[in-house]
Amino acid sequence: HFITLEGGEGTGKSTQARRLAVHLRALGHQVVETREPGGSPGAEAVRHVLLSGAAEPLGPVAEALLFAAARTDHVATLIRPALAAGIIVICDRFIDSTRVYQGAVGQVQPHLLDALEEMATSGTRPDLTLILDVPPDIGLARAAARGEGNPDRFEKEGAAYHAAVREAFVTRAAAAPRRCVLVDATPDPDAVAAEIAGIVAARLGL
Ligand code: C5P
Repeated sequence: HFITLEGGEGTGKSTQARRLAVHLRALGHQVVETREPGGSPGAEAVRHVLLSGAAEPLGPVAEALLFAAARTDHVATLIRPALAAGIIVICDRFIDSTRVYQGAVGQVQPHLLDALEEMATSGTRPDLTLILDVPPDIGLARAAARGEGNPDRFEKEGAAYHAAVREAFVTRAAAAPRRCVLVDATPDPDAVAAEIAGIVAARLGL
């Protein structure tokens, strides 16, 4: 099974990915936790280029190509082999982040993103996507409280950007209801983890 977690800044994706992995391992399953951009050595190198802000910002199409390059390597070297070995893969961000950040926000045309998605995944798509939703002000406050001190360049965007991101994720969830579930991530982490465990049990029988 391939499970992805999606959502904007400070929605708790990484925390909940961890919690879900611990929960599924306790049930006796083998689980690999991974993330995008990154997740394999080659893709982590591309992540550094994308997030360091060292160079002039790339245009949205160039950026989409880099995300796709990272994903191609991640899927081929980590995700697909793990799934083939019967291991559950939990990934923090995947194709829906591309549709939101490069598509809805970056305005890259859907047909280009379709082609890149097909190239990068070769059909390896999530069985279940949990889209974590919180109001942007709460998400930003949480991200700031994480105290990473050195926000990446995406985290420096303004309130309108974060509102657009949230809206786009909600739209994604509604557009693909067989794969995606919108999860209210406002409650405390224990409550959200319990909600997610329930969804995974109901949807995937795990
Ligand atoms: O999940 P994480 O915070 O590590 O993601 C890093 C940043 O990359 C996020 O701030 C997100 O806005 C951005 N991103 C993006 N397009 C993607 C995936 C992530 O702009 N496809």
